[in-house]
This record gives sequence, C-alpha cells and structure tokens, in this order.
Amino acid sequence: MDEFSVVLRARKFVREAGPVKIPPSIESYVHHIGGILRHEKDLPDDEPGYSFENNGKHFVCVNKKDSEKRRRFTACHEIAHIVLGLPSEHSSIPSWSYVKRPKNEILCDVFAAELLLPKQLFEPMVQEEQIGFPAIDELGRRFLASTTATGSRYAMVMDAPCAFVLSEKGVIRYASRSKSLREAGGWIPPRIEVPPESLSAALRTSGSATGPKEVAADVWFSDWRRGGVVLEEARYLKSWDQTLTLLWFEDEEVPPLLCEGREVEDEDPFLPELDGILPWPGKRRRR
Ligand SMILES: [Zn+2]
Repeated sequence: MDEFSVVLRARKFVREAGPVKIPPSIESYVHHIGGILRHEKDLPDDEPGYSFENNGKHFVCVNKKDSEKRRRFTACHEIAHIVLGLPSEHSSIPSWSYVKRPKNEILCDVFAAELLLPKQLFEPMVQEEQIGFPAIDELGRRFLASTTATGSRYAMVMDAPCAFVLSEKGVIRYASRSKSLREAGGWIPPRIEVPPESLSAALRTSGSATGPKEVAADVWFSDWRRGGVVLEEARYLKSWDQTLTLLWFEDEEVPPLLCEGREVEDEDPFLPELDGILPWPGKRRRR
C-alpha cells in the first residue's frame, strides 16, 4: 500500500461518511465504521490511544488527558488502522516521533490528516490567505488540527510553489511539497541535516529568530537549477526537538530554469535561437 492509494481511500471514506463541516465531526467518522468512541482517563500520558474489536463492534479509544486536537487526530489514526486493515506498531517508538516511524504508522497519519482536513473544504481556504504560518495557525484553529498536520496538508494542496518541512533533532524527516514545486524539481531529501545557513537551523541553535527570512533556494532544494531566493519561516517545538519550516517564493512563482547562467523555457531542452522578440512581456505566465 502506498501513500497515494491511502489518500484516495481516505477521500472516499470522507465522501461516504456523509456531509462534512468545519471542523469535521469525529463522531460521524466513528459512527460510519459502526464504532464507539471512548475517552479513557487511565491511559499513560505517552499513550494517545488504541482500538479493538469486540462482538463485531470497533472501539476507538483516545486518551482523555490529551488536548482536543490530539484526541481528534488519534481517533482518525485508529479509524485508519481499522479501514486500511493495517496492524498497529505503537510500542516501538514514541507516538510523536518521526525518527524510525514504521511505514504503517505513517500511512495511518496520512489517512488521519485527510479526515481532519477534508480536501473539498480545506483546499479552497488554503488559496485565500497570504502564505505563512499565521494562515496555517488560523486553519488549524478552525479545523481543530495541529500545526504539524495542518502545515503538511497546507503545502500539499497549495497552488503556489511551497514546501513544509518537519525536522527532528536537526535532521529533516519529512517534506510535503505543492504540485507546482514538485513539477519544478524542488526536492528536499530526508535524513540529512537541516541546512546550517537556514533560518530553521538558527532557530534551533539560538532559540530566537525572526522570519520570514530570504534564503537562497538551493540551500534547501537539492540539484536546483533555477537560482532565486525563497522566503523561510520556522517554528521550533522545544519539548520534542522538532522544527517546522515553511518555504515559498515571494511572487508565488518558481524562477526560470538556468542554463549556463541564462534563463531557458522549461519545455525547451535547448536554448532557442535569438530572434530579438521577447516571448512574454514582464512577469512569467503562470503554469
Ligand atoms: Zn497507529
């Protein structure tokens, strides 16, 4: 099972579970699988939840001590285990950590994020506001989802080239990128150190950094052949030693490809002959 098929399964689930509102009703999701939602007060602090089946009924259990956002995510994650038929591997790592997170757990997180931030409601709202953490905060508040879950989905559905990166202990763990950035070749490899020149690295070391800050695009993107600068904004979550990074281009367009220092059109593998006529006046057209 891959991430794409999980996303499709989750979208089908949301459609079938009935009309969605903001924030989505977790009870209707649990009801849709014929399950019962239980808030357990005796679970250890580091155990967000679990699920089990009894007499053909699914019990989705969440930790009553967790925040509402956390409980909603946990419930959707447990629904994912049930719907996708993936056994849970909760004991091997702390629930919040992305280091060595088993594949099944990542897939269930992806499913959960789709349920919490349904595409048809979330995607149009993402395009409305100016890009930045304030927009992610506001969406997270309205959809009752964490900054991490919201930010990751935010970059994924954004029209403009944009990336959201999660790092833990100074190492990049996960990057979600908008379609336009993926198509432009903006690749952020996981399991490498956060670039030392970045705002995110400074924020982790010094604890204080103001953003957004302009950073050369090739500081973040590997094999980047377009030059240009990105705006970088970052958040540091001290208790988990995690850094959240948002990257985007100020004019919301990727810079043109560079070939021996000159701009070239994406479609043309070779430089066109010079004819003295500019192909497009002023700003590059949007793709
Ligand atoms: Zn799980």
